[in-house]
Order: sequence, then structure tokens, then C-alpha cells
Amino acid sequence: MSGLTLSGIRKEFGTFVAVEKIDLQIPNGSFVCLLGPSGCGKTTLLRMIAGLEQPTNGEILIDGSDITGIPTHKRELGMVFQSLALFPHLTVAENISYALRIRGASKSDQAARVNELLEMIHLSGYGDRKVSQLSGGQRQRVAIARALALSPKLFLLDEPLSALDAKLRESMQVELRQLQQKLGITTIVVTHDQREAMTMADIVVVMGEGRIRQAAPPVEIYRNPADKFVADFIGVTNLLPISQNGGVAEFMGTKLEGISLNQAEATLSVRPEDIHLLPAGAGALDGDVAFIRDLGATVETFVDVAGHQLMASCSPRDRLPLNLGEKVGVKFDADASVVLTS
Ligand code: ATP
Repeated sequence: MSGLTLSGIRKEFGTFVAVEKIDLQIPNGSFVCLLGPSGCGKTTLLRMIAGLEQPTNGEILIDGSDITGIPTHKRELGMVFQSLALFPHLTVAENISYALRIRGASKSDQAARVNELLEMIHLSGYGDRKVSQLSGGQRQRVAIARALALSPKLFLLDEPLSALDAKLRESMQVELRQLQQKLGITTIVVTHDQREAMTMADIVVVMGEGRIRQAAPPVEIYRNPADKFVADFIGVTNLLPISQNGGVAEFMGTKLEGISLNQAEATLSVRPEDIHLLPAGAGALDGDVAFIRDLGATVETFVDVAGHQLMASCSPRDRLPLNLGEKVGVKFDADASVVLTS
């Protein structure tokens, strides 16, 4: 089978289980983000793929060949970690060509590859600068170029952008994705930032407590979260407790027509942009305006429905003129909601 295969991967540290039974197939050329809260096992999983940590159980295969016992330097990897570990006393070119030099590449081959990589990371002409004379974003790009110098099969990055400020981080996300698409290199990035994952990934792997909770394209994860944990972790959502009434979901005593439910209780996830506010009495539900937050690009309105707070967001242009404490109708389409049973 082509691509990277993780089969039954488990990692114990003493009695503590950091990663439990991970099964994942990553097609060649895809960009995967391992996403989850702190301590969920993302870094441990990445380190096992890198060969820096041995799984307690399970196998790692590349294009069908078992690499589980193969040392890191024989896995044809490029790696970038949060602490970039560039050599500060070397120039940009010397940093990038480091691995080529160790491999005994000729001076002209080294120079050609460095120029190619500098162009790729938009730093042509910076080869003779010391790393200490670069900005944070430029250093980041040098670390990426250095990791790619030997044209690895697999590119692994652990929170590579977390030290950058928000604006630079966003532009680097786009750059990294564009570079990956150009090279077609299989890339795995650890992040705890869902927006970053959604910007870059073909496949987002949401992890929680050492397990994969869902692995799917970003929009699929957003629109069809597998469970409450995923729905809550990806973006903002309203989680409504629902119960069954004659096969139909009921929320706070109101039947939600069009939403069927086959068990006694569950949770309904409705994204804020799918909740519409109407004049009182015109919606399926009624509530009181509890808080309004105008963020410029969107307006978020919190509505208290029978003691349960829902958040609706809309463009300021579509905003209903509302005051705090005012009665308001609430409506959402059945097919914009997801019934979560776990
Ligand atoms: P973060 O986002 O905070 O980096 P993470 O999801 O990458 O978190 P890991 O670093 O993989 O999490 O750690 C998963 C769990 O395994 C944590 O509870 C951590 O304390 C534990 N752990 C990691 N490495 C070791 C180790 N060498 N010895 C013992 N426990 C470890």
C-alpha cells in the first residue's frame, strides 16, 4: 500500500499510556495536521513516526515497508521543531547545505541546491547572512529549507509556527501549504491551533487522550463532527441537550421538526452561523437577548432559551435591530445541525 501507514500504534511511558491504538493511512503527497489539546499525544505520535521514540506496540510502514525499527537518519525525513535549532554562527547557506555537506556533496552541487531552496523560500540573496541577522519568519523559512535540502520522503513539523506573532503565523501557514503543494511532499504537522490546521491540511487528525477522535478533510470535520469533543474543539458551536419525543428531537420542551432521534438523549451541534434570529414568535424557539458582541466583521448575539444560552453570528448587514433583554425568535435548519450520540 502506498503512503504512510500507522497500524495499532501504542506508546506507554511506564504505566502511563500516551498514545492508544492509532490506525491511520496517509496517502503520499498529502498534508496532515495532528490537532488536539495539550497532552493528547500529538508530539509522541510524531516522534514515533520520526523514529525518535519506539512504539510499545504497532507498526509504521512507508509504501508497505515496515520502518518501525529503522533509525531516524535512515528514514529519509525532514524535520522542523518549535525550537528551530539553526546554527547561529553559520550563514543561511551553510545552515541549508549542512546535510548536503555531511553527505559529501560537491561544492557546486551544494551551491546549486542552496540557491534553488533560497528561491523556493523567497530568500534569494540572503545566503551570506548570519542566521542571527534574520527575522523570526525568515529563520522559520531557513529551518524549512534546511529540512528539505535532501528532498526527504516525509516532512515532519512540530508546532513550527507557534513562536511567531499572529499575523506572520497566518502568512507562514499559507506559504507552507503552497510550498508543500508545489513539492508534493507528504507532510505531517503537529498543532493545537484549529484555524492553522484548517488552513493547511488535506486531512485533519483530531486527537484526544491518546486516541484519534476523527480523521477527515477540514470541512468534513467542521460540518460533520464525529462526537461532542470534536464539535467543541473545532471552531465554535452550540451544543444543545436533546431528548426523544415520538422519534423526534426535543429541546427544552420544544419539538425540533425534521430532526429525528432514535435514542432517549443526545446532543445537537449547531454552528453559530446557522442560527438565525427573527422577530419574537416567528422562530421555532423563543428566547431573550442576553449579550451582543459586535466584532466588526461579524455580530454575535447570545440568546437565552429556557435557561440555555445559544450563540448566533451573522454579518453586521444582516443584523436584526435588537436590544438586551428583548424577546427574539430562533430558527435553524434541520440539515445544518448534527446529532451527536457520544
Ligand atoms: P503539547 O501540545 O502540550 O505539546 P502533545 O499532545 O504533543 O502536547 P505529548 O507531548 O505527546 O502531548 O505528550 C502526551 C503525554 O505523554 C503527556 O501526558 C506527557 O506528559 C506524556 N509524555 C510525553 N513524553 C513522555 C516521556 N518521555 N515520559 C513520560 N511521559 C511522557
